[in-house]
Amino acid sequence: MDGEPRSLLVGLKRGLMRRCPACGGGRLFRGYLTVEDHCPACGHDNGQYPADDAPPYFTIFLVGHLVVAPLLAVAMIWRASTVLLLVLLVPLVAAVTLGMLPYVKGAVIGAQWSLRTPTKAAR
Ligand SMILES: [Zn+2]
Repeated sequence: MDGEPRSLLVGLKRGLMRRCPACGGGRLFRGYLTVEDHCPACGHDNGQYPADDAPPYFTIFLVGHLVVAPLLAVAMIWRASTVLLLVLLVPLVAAVTLGMLPYVKGAVIGAQWSLRTPTKAAR
């Protein structure tokens, strides 16, 4: 099983669904961002993938391009008071960022599974 080719799309899809990239059945996280060391369905060692800083990096990149940049195109943004913008937009951007983070972390782990990145033990 270990030598079989692994699809990047399958790994990304399963990770985005916060499922084990190896089987797609077991949950990947046991909390908000804590990775289950072993898949409850197939026993795959999901704790070996060192996602490190990639999930926050990609999440900030996505939020910046999908939320912040389009907001700058809204004319109201340039006329509203700074305090109003801070009160409205900081919680919005924080909520979107924190909401996306587990899905992006799942996708990163799914990509690492498909690419067979070096494990934490091998580093
Ligand atoms: Zn599994």
